[in-house]
Amino acid sequence: MGAMRNVLLWASENPTLKKKVPQMKFVQRALKRFMPGENAEDALLAARLLMNNNIPAVFTRLGENLVNISEATEVTHHYLDLIDKIFAEKLDVEISLKLTQLGFDLSVDETHNNLKKILQKAKELLHNTVWIDMEGSAYTTKTIDFYKKIKSEEENVGLCLQAYLFRTHEDLNELIKINPSIRLVKGAYNEPHDIALKDKFRVDENYLDLSQKMLAKVKEGKLKAVFGTHDLKILNAIDNYSSTIGLEKNKYEFHMLYGIKTNEQLRLANEGHKIRVLISYGSAWYPWYMRRLAERPANVNFVLKNIFSN
Ligand SMILES: Cc1cc2nc3c(=O)[nH]c(=O)nc-3n(C[C@H](O)[C@H](O)[C@H](O)COP(=O)(O)OP(=O)(O)OC[C@H]3O[C@@H](n4cnc5c(N)ncnc54)[C@H](O)[C@@H]3O)c2cc1C
Repeated sequence: MGAMRNVLLWASENPTLKKKVPQMKFVQRALKRFMPGENAEDALLAARLLMNNNIPAVFTRLGENLVNISEATEVTHHYLDLIDKIFAEKLDVEISLKLTQLGFDLSVDETHNNLKKILQKAKELLHNTVWIDMEGSAYTTKTIDFYKKIKSEEENVGLCLQAYLFRTHEDLNELIKINPSIRLVKGAYNEPHDIALKDKFRVDENYLDLSQKMLAKVKEGKLKAVFGTHDLKILNAIDNYSSTIGLEKNKYEFHMLYGIKTNEQLRLANEGHKIRVLISYGSAWYPWYMRRLAERPANVNFVLKNIFSN
């Protein structure tokens, strides 16, 4: 894929840029397009506004690859408090998180305990699913193994899979055996040629193949399917395939990111589709934001335009 995408993904992991870029005022201004603010209250306000249009949300607090296990405890408490707030406000909001936010680099057992607390509280108060994001390929096997284990203990947990990885068909075949909840995305990291498709056309093609396999399993009652994409061609193809196999549109969900294709989000909701919007918030937004820019390098122009605005 494009050279600009590679540069932006490289920048997302560069320690010097990670320190400097978040301090730049014009970057902070441009960020507002994708993120309502840095605090949970900002996300709650955005979710209330979406609810006015009958669009429920998913929350994620930004942050990844913690270096100290006490930070993971803090993140866990943050999510537990957040569930209380969502419950108190009677909002329809799920949570999505990264295992490395819960201490995955430091202790798998602690991560398990942390997530279990979050899952149990979400089940008790919100009666909904908590999603595990999929991070870079160094984590794929570990994350899938982790998912299988925790899914055998708690039902309300979903996993993200990435269509750009060669292995995903095989992973899906294995996961289907445990009646999973899967959110399919294209994939946002800079992966090497030998494990990931690099050509956008081929990634899209693989996404479609995987989505059809998932929809067929939804029909058999063996999988809960979420499609995390803004690609309208793919959304239409998913709808058409569902009609072909006689699957009603309320049997699967679309998830999109806050600030991207907002009109489409409204259209889908108005047409009776199940759609949720993922709202990210938090102060550790740099790597996440660079991945958003990499998805559409034209977004860089938008950032640059903010140099001249107040
Ligand atoms: C709900 C959700 C959860 C996700 N979770 C993960 C995860 O856990 N792990 C992971 O690796 N990736 C995750 N992603 C990101 C995903 O992998 C893609 O990088 C991202 O969704 C862009 O791909 P696309 O499917 O929208 O298709 P694309 O072909 O990239 O985009 C389709 C169209 O959408 C618009 N668009 C897409 N992205 C942007 C953007 N950033 N800014 C402006 N317009 C844009 C453009 O008009 C583009 O033409 C998630 C995405 C979503 C929606």
